[in-house]
Parts: sequence; C-alpha cells; structure tokens
Amino acid sequence: MLGKKPTESEPRGWPVAAGALGAAGIFVAAALAVMAGLVATGALRLVPALLGVVVLSIAALATAFRQKRRQEGLRMPDVSPHGSTPFADEHFLETILRGLADPVVALDRDGRILAFNAKAAQIAPALRRGDLAQIAFRVPEVVEAIRRAREEGEPQRVEFSERVPLDRWYELVVTRLIFEAAAGQLPRDLLLMTFHDLTPLRRVEEMRADFVANASHELRTPLAALSGFIDTLQGTARDDPAARERFLPIMQAQATRMARLIDDLLSLSRIELSAHLRPETPTDLVSIVRQVTDGLETLARDRDVKIMVKAPPAPVVVLGDRDELLRVFDNLVENALKYGASGKRIEIEFANGKTPEGGAEVQVAVRDFGPGIAPEHLPRLTERFYRVDVAESRAQGGTGLGLALAKHILNRHGGRLSISSVLGKGATFTVHLPIPKAGTGISANQ
Ligand code: ADP
Repeated sequence: MLGKKPTESEPRGWPVAAGALGAAGIFVAAALAVMAGLVATGALRLVPALLGVVVLSIAALATAFRQKRRQEGLRMPDVSPHGSTPFADEHFLETILRGLADPVVALDRDGRILAFNAKAAQIAPALRRGDLAQIAFRVPEVVEAIRRAREEGEPQRVEFSERVPLDRWYELVVTRLIFEAAAGQLPRDLLLMTFHDLTPLRRVEEMRADFVANASHELRTPLAALSGFIDTLQGTARDDPAARERFLPIMQAQATRMARLIDDLLSLSRIELSAHLRPETPTDLVSIVRQVTDGLETLARDRDVKIMVKAPPAPVVVLGDRDELLRVFDNLVENALKYGASGKRIEIEFANGKTPEGGAEVQVAVRDFGPGIAPEHLPRLTERFYRVDVAESRAQGGTGLGLALAKHILNRHGGRLSISSVLGKGATFTVHLPIPKAGTGISANQ
C-alpha cells in the first residue's frame, strides 16, 4: 500500500463536548438551588422536587450531547498531518492510470507495483500489485532504468524489444515523482513507468528500407543488361550486324521494363498520397471491363486464350476513378493471360454481394484455369515486389507491383481485392466495390 486511510489520532470533539457539559452542570445546579428554596419555603414537597431535579438533569445532559454530535457532524474532514496526499489512495491512482492512452505502471520507492492500467497488462501479463517490477519486466534495460530513476531522480528513457510471441519495440520513460509531506514526515515518492509502442514506426521504417532496396535492385538489373549490350556493341560486336539484330530487341525490352517499373512506382506513390480521398465520379464497371478486354485482345490471341465476359446488359455504376479502375482490371486480366494461359480461357463475371459491414457491393471475378497459386503465397501476393516465380515474372515483363497497385486503388475506393486458388486448377482474383446508396442506377446481375 502506498498509504493508509487518514486516521483520527485525537478526540477532537472534546473541547466542544466539555463546554456543552459544563453548561448543563450549571443549569442542573441552578435548578437544584431553586428546588431547595421552594422546599424550604414549603411551596414544594421534597419527593416531587427531587424528581423534578432528576428529569431536568437528564434533559440538560441529552441536549448537551446532541449539540456535541451536531457540531462533530458539521466539521470538515481532517487534513491530518498523519494522513497522506490524495495519491495515497491506490484506487484513485488506478483510476487516473485507466484514463491514460499509453501503458503506465506506478511503483513505490522500493520498486513494488502499486497500480497499472489495462494497456500495461497487455504488454506485461505478469504484472501483479505488490510484486517487484523486475518480476514482471525481466528486461535488463528496464530494470536498470528503474534503478537509475530511483537513485538519480532524473527521468530515464530506454528502448527495448521483445521477440516472443511477436517482434515488438517499446520506448520506456521512468519518472520519479515526489509528493511534499507535512513537517516531520518523510516525502512520498512514486516511480511512473510510461511505455510507447514503437512497433508500427519500426515496421514502416523497415518497409521503407526494403522498398528502396527492392526498387533499386529491380532498376539495376535491366540497367546492367543494357550497359552490357552497349559495351558489346561498341566492342567485339562493333561490325557484327547479326549480333546487333539479336541484341537490339532485348535492349528494347529491358528499356520498356525500366520505364514500366518507374511508371508503376510513380503510380503507387500518387495513389498513396491520395489514399484518404474517396473518388466520387459515377463510373460504369461494365464499360471498363470491355475496354480492358478489347485492349488485350491481341495478347489473348497470341497466347491462344479465350476471354469470356458475363456482364449484365445495363451499366454497373460505382463511385470511382476510371483510369485507376482500368489499371486494376488491366493488371488482373493481363496476369491471367501471362500466368494462366495454359488454361486456355478466362472468365470475367459480375455478381452482387455484401461488404464485411453488411452493405451492398458489386463483385467482379477474373478467373483463369492455369496452374494456380500455392496457398502459402496467397496472403503475400499484394506485397510490393512479391512474386511466386521471380524469373517467370521478369520473363513476362512483370514489375511485381501490379497487385500492390490494385490493392491500393481498391482501398482508396472503399473496396478490396480477394484472391482464391486451387493448385493445378487456376486462380480467381475478385474485385469488391461498394455500391453507392441511392440514385446512381445500379443494376448489377440484371
Ligand atoms: P507481376 O508484375 O510480377 O505480374 P503482380 O503484382 O501483378 O506482379 O503479380 C505478383 C505475382 O503474383 C506474379 O509475379 C505471379 O507470380 C503471381 N500471379 C499473379 N496473377 C497470377 C495468376 N493469374 N496465376 C498465377 N500466378 C499469378
């Protein structure tokens, strides 16, 4: 316990009571004298006179005690020199900690746990009131910070990480608080441990570092190929028209890949910048899908793949950015043509569905009947630069950014991308987009 409840060490009501009782005594003495006079003059007989004195004495004493109790009841609560600050009440302390957004633990001067909030219990399930802090936090940096805060009195800041059950990073600030005490009392001190979760920040830093490393690597590969061919054409193959004929198309493909990569990177950063802005232009998904399939007709013919669109006859209108949605479907249908061509056909089908929140949505599934994708890859496909088979993606001119872009575009539209696949049977990429509430002429599945 940080402190005890304030105690009454002194019967403070006594002076008041003594005064009241003294007045009652005088009143009884006066009554006694009057009765004695009346008995002496024969105006009153002895027995009734004595009875009168007893009754008057009892009434006077009862009034005196009643008055004492009333005065006690009106007295303000003590701010006793033996009591303590309001923080002595650990429930009060816990109530304050409950209102704080960060995980916080309060310790007494010996490092014993006095109070903590639910957030703190989440990061350190071993927290128990009355235990030493080092039992709950077995991290050397934390134990050392508590010791230094107690001994040096200065706030101590440390960063530490936990590996189990998941990688997490925290910043901890241990502050020593001293409450003034009354004369003759020892000051009370409290150690406050405040934690900040640095995990999201660290994850973003790691992702940014990975992204820069990946982007540079992706650009460096075609660049290295290009400069290799340039060297050869300037050197050994200077006068070799056959080599020039062979190399130039490869060089062009590499240059196109670089341009595509830069284009995808710029699109990603532009979409991320506008991620919080929901597009509001009514846009027909059927015409978008038709435009995409028309544009990919040549590639489909080259790959000997049939594209079948099962769309409603009337427009299916969502609120969206036409160019961005074109990009999503272009990527999905092109992927199906690139990676699922062995299935010989692609189906694009419209359906009505429900959002996870229960609202109405339109679903457009792009299904191929190619080799499919193993389940362990499915959750990672929308990560930047993630490919199931890097060599195949490069050979197909892929950048590894198409599905990441699709996911970001759909998020911005309040929708999502779902992926399902059975190995050997093909893959289905489904675009989910919310249907606006009223007046936009939605007619999916007609
Ligand atoms: P890429 O530029 O490599 O095509 P994407 O982000 O569009 O990048 O796709 C990521 C990876 O997902 C591809 O490299 C491929 O391995 C896999 N993938 C995408 N679509 C399909 C599909 N229809 N069938 C099989 N694998 C696919």
